[in-house]
Amino acid sequence: MIIIMKAGSSDAQIEQVSEKLKAMGMGSHVSKGIERTVVGAIGDERKIDIEALEVLPGVENVVRVMKPYKIVSRVSHPEDSVVDIRGIKLGGKQIQVIGGPCSVETQPQMDSAAASVAAAGCRLMRGGAFKPRTSPYAFQGVGVEGLKMFRRAADKHNLPIVTELMDVRMLDTFMEHDVDVIQIGTRNMQNFDLLKEVGKVQKPVILKRGMSATISEWLMAAEYIAAGGNHNIIFCERGVRSFETYYRNMLDVTAIPVLKRETHMPVIVDPSHAGGKAWMVPALARAAVAAGADGLLIEMHPCPSEAWCDADQALSPEELTALMGELRAIAAIMGREL
Ligand code: PEP
Ligand code: MN
Repeated sequence: MIIIMKAGSSDAQIEQVSEKLKAMGMGSHVSKGIERTVVGAIGDERKIDIEALEVLPGVENVVRVMKPYKIVSRVSHPEDSVVDIRGIKLGGKQIQVIGGPCSVETQPQMDSAAASVAAAGCRLMRGGAFKPRTSPYAFQGVGVEGLKMFRRAADKHNLPIVTELMDVRMLDTFMEHDVDVIQIGTRNMQNFDLLKEVGKVQKPVILKRGMSATISEWLMAAEYIAAGGNHNIIFCERGVRSFETYYRNMLDVTAIPVLKRETHMPVIVDPSHAGGKAWMVPALARAAVAAGADGLLIEMHPCPSEAWCDADQALSPEELTALMGELRAIAAIMGREL
């Protein structure tokens, strides 16, 4: 951290800054120029309240030099981290596609979806038993019964299951049903109490980007999980709010290389909630793989027109199979596998 003093600041003011830093457990180094003096803070600046320094007399500006996130930062771990999901590696050479319906509906729907997901070549399955809906009158998910249906359907094909946790009170139930990957949805990216709790378990967590979160806020949200001891974190870009109304969200493809640079943790993309229409999903999925995504989260329903939730954006089993073929070719160009 660097504290830049105002032109003409007095020696007493500079001394006060050094004293304040000392009281905060930091060292200091004063560098006097012809016009300006800067004070360099020595120590871990992450715990320091920047405002407590900015208010001191004679201080013009305080600049952080360290990233506010530590465990998730690539600085602390230069190699890519690979998250192991029951033997399936996410973040390595192999790209993982997580396919499945928006919501768990019935046992036959889940059985059929699981068979199609496996047949298309996906190694993991998605499906929400608890749904965060904009309207309280809309279908809210089938709840705990849905976790059972999901487990039964996926186990037949040995597919690990990915499902959203909205309420911290359901975490024990998720553990009892041995949910393989806990999804934290866009609306909960900054639910810090929820993040702290999933930080205490060792289950892999997919952390979706808040719909208007900056990359820095997203990294800090992941740091909450990591700080609790759970380093099995997967970032998921799912589109951000924009001025555009043609599609549901704007897929931030730029975030993929930025995150790959800033963090060692895997980055996946959800093209379904970005575009919001099935016909857009293949183009966005192809772009994501070409941009370096480690995986995709794609909605697929055995009969999209009958889906209880997000019918517009669900691929049919045939469309998912066709897309997997295209993605395989792009992965090969990228020196990866699918
Ligand atoms: C979902 O994946 O089912 C979902 C609700 O996504 P998001 O949190 O990105 O809206
Ligand atoms: Mn959905």
